[in-house]
Amino acid sequence: DLPNLGALDASKMAVTITTAPRTVPEWNGAEAKAQKTCTDHMVTARWTAEEGWDAPEMKPYGPLSIMPSASVLHYATECFEGCKLYRGYDGKLRLFRISRNCARMRNSAERIALPDFEPKELEKMIIALCARDGPKWLPKDRAGCFLYCRPTFIGTDSALGVQRPREALLYVILSCFPDMSSSLATPAPPAMQGKADGKPKSSSGLKLIASREDTIRAWPGGFGYAKLGANYGPTLVAQGEAKARGFDQVLWLYEKENWVTEAGASNFFVVIREKTSGRLQLITAPLTERIILEGVTRASVLELCQSRLAQSQDGVEGLEVVEKRFTMDDLLEADKEGRLVEAFAAGTAFFIAPVALIHFRGKDIEVPTDGGEAGVYTRLVKQWLVNIMYGKESHEWGVVV
Ligand code: PMP
Repeated sequence: DLPNLGALDASKMAVTITTAPRTVPEWNGAEAKAQKTCTDHMVTARWTAEEGWDAPEMKPYGPLSIMPSASVLHYATECFEGCKLYRGYDGKLRLFRISRNCARMRNSAERIALPDFEPKELEKMIIALCARDGPKWLPKDRAGCFLYCRPTFIGTDSALGVQRPREALLYVILSCFPDMSSSLATPAPPAMQGKADGKPKSSSGLKLIASREDTIRAWPGGFGYAKLGANYGPTLVAQGEAKARGFDQVLWLYEKENWVTEAGASNFFVVIREKTSGRLQLITAPLTERIILEGVTRASVLELCQSRLAQSQDGVEGLEVVEKRFTMDDLLEADKEGRLVEAFAAGTAFFIAPVALIHFRGKDIEVPTDGGEAGVYTRLVKQWLVNIMYGKESHEWGVVV
């Protein structure tokens, strides 16, 4: 709406190559697990209310310089994205549905009063950084490995007035990141080991604990649908309590009815046999109340299951894909009646993670995990996505860098 101001334009990017290249750590080693190591370069773009967007820059990774009075440090004017750069089995580097991350970033920015930009230009900036650092940091002998990409947008206005930032910085970094999909579960806490039925607890699969009534992640009219830093800091106490009690993640509930929304920073899916029709359903919370993040993985799971699992085939029963509200009571009832078939969390960081246990106010739901691994639908969905991300299946969602 301000046509004479500079638009974000990746083609204007100025490039300064580092003179102090960093060492690439071992894949999935201690350094990667610490999540502190970033690649050689970063991409930045500055915006001001007066001039609009400056030309983006690619430059050596290093500290930012912002004033102590910067808007982001006081009023949390920040949003971010999370995606991965994958080294394919065919030797190619790919991003997964990156246009969705860029579009979501624009929506998040709007919610937190940060300036608008053309998502395609952010996409080009991300691709440029991945093309620069990907070949070194994900060498060809690391097929099946990935780097984590973190586009970030902050209000840098150095004025303490509570107002829309008049200055902002958009930047993209690439980080070494652990493979959390293979090391998901923490050992079961002593209290949960050796149940009355004498069967040992499955050792893999996420153990979730339902959120307490006094801790709500998101609410209608709030900002749970946006990827704002302000959504995450306030979840860390609950996450820490969950870990201390031997659980992996919090299952976020909402309202007196205990609607099931998300698991940690992932979307949550259950496979349930419907009570009256007897049909299998893949169910996840709807987007309508705007209290969950519209995950890229969530959308992909829904689309793949709709197109590939509508009919039974190869001995796998077909299922119906349903986005609807469901409650803890629905899960407890399905569990009691033997209709709870599988559950999994879905997101970029944890990928497709089978859920083995849900603890809800003194009760445990043990979710079937097919011998401690993952149920057939969880495994299928994960395999389809792996195939696309790592180039075993050629698909438009895999964007070659
Ligand atoms: N919910 C929340 C709250 C998240 O932070 C994330 C991670 N971005 C997700 C769901 C999963 O989203 P995606 O599949 O895009 O990673």
